[in-house]
Amino acid sequence: MAVTAMDVYKLLPKTNCAKCGEASCMAFATKLKDKEIGLEICTQLAANEFDKLADILAPAVREISIGKGAKAMIAGGDEVLYRYELTYYNQTPLVIDISDDMDEAAFDERVKKIEEIQFERTGELLTLDAIALRNKSGDASRFKEAAEKLKNANLALVLCSFDADAMKAALEAVGDERPLIYGATENNIEEMATLALEYDCPVALFVPNDLEKMKELSRTLRAKGITDIVLDPGTYVNAGIGDTLDDFIMIRRLAVEERDEDFRFPIMGVPALTWLNTEEDEVNTAIKEATIATTLINKYADIMIIHGTEIWELIPVLTLRQSIFTDPRKPQAVDAGVYEIGEVNEDSPVALTTNFALTYYTVEGDLKSGNANGYLLVLDTEGRAVDVAVAGGQFNGKAVADLIKESGIEDDVKTRKMVIPGLAAPTSGEIEDDTGWEVVVGPRDSSALADFLKEKV
Ligand code: SF4
Repeated sequence: MAVTAMDVYKLLPKTNCAKCGEASCMAFATKLKDKEIGLEICTQLAANEFDKLADILAPAVREISIGKGAKAMIAGGDEVLYRYELTYYNQTPLVIDISDDMDEAAFDERVKKIEEIQFERTGELLTLDAIALRNKSGDASRFKEAAEKLKNANLALVLCSFDADAMKAALEAVGDERPLIYGATENNIEEMATLALEYDCPVALFVPNDLEKMKELSRTLRAKGITDIVLDPGTYVNAGIGDTLDDFIMIRRLAVEERDEDFRFPIMGVPALTWLNTEEDEVNTAIKEATIATTLINKYADIMIIHGTEIWELIPVLTLRQSIFTDPRKPQAVDAGVYEIGEVNEDSPVALTTNFALTYYTVEGDLKSGNANGYLLVLDTEGRAVDVAVAGGQFNGKAVADLIKESGIEDDVKTRKMVIPGLAAPTSGEIEDDTGWEVVVGPRDSSALADFLKEKV
């Protein structure tokens, strides 16, 4: 179960000395529990209390760092089974595979494509996180050569081979890049554990659909002092997808509810296995892979290896990941104020919207793609969409009057006319009364706003 502020408070000195910058130990406990402050900020803790607190504050799922410097990515870190109980931490790193048997030009082209994939949504650039090199050739020297090339890529690395000699050669080639070793199995665990310790790398444990065996092997790794472990219980992409989900859910329950030390590690999903079925055509395979990837993101995949690189396949995966890994306690909002769209002058039209991020970026995108010029007034509705803010009372005449005053828009334009969203039509009268501006009710859908501003204002 998630740690509460009271659990933390009980272990604090309770002197309310304020040396941490908080007004009380309870305020500090609340921030500590929410990961908004570090334990070391309280200098009044005795060593044993510090250790106890560090232990109860450690996430149920251990955070594993893969890669180094700007390439580093974090997998794991979650505390709860359900996002609404707290939030999910560290969005699932998305890793694209590449094979060491590709010819040089195709290999380079695929690396470039993986590095350059990006998609902008609600002001955030969504990108991939790592490249997984598969030892498909079965040849250690080819694996090493390919690894050496990937050392210069701008993403973290996952090295995939069950051959310890090939893995060692590749680890030598990438130096201190700290790739994820994938992976250790029942048959090679001693050799892979030795490599993980020698090269100080995290290691993925692959034990298909046998959680008892996984527990035993996880314990074997931990007994050797290895704490950076990723668990892969197998991804069954056809009839076995239900078993895959069962395994993922069971592992996460054991970590969160039982605090079972052998399962408190990130889970890996491998939707890329969809492509092993050569009977399907490419489009259907990509759709199936995206479906499996989004299913597994929903149910605890902390890191995933994908094969498809078409943007239409990756968009649903990237956007779902972005949506799940937002904090449900904090509305996604942009700053309230006045924003310039295109070329503006004192004769430019003025439109009004809310500061809910999805609303703002949709309106902004529609205005820009419609080549509109004008000012966009953004009202602080505490991150609520237009209809919700109208119903909740945040979209009101007084708030708009305050926004006009604080933004200084009356110094920028001669007009005293504004277009409000169609969904805010019920507030038009009070906005006119409170602001003295003429209000024009615009379209309900912002896709029609650019033309509306050009033709009707
Ligand atoms: S420094 Fe420690 S003891 Fe003092 S108020 Fe903060 S949490 Fe409490």
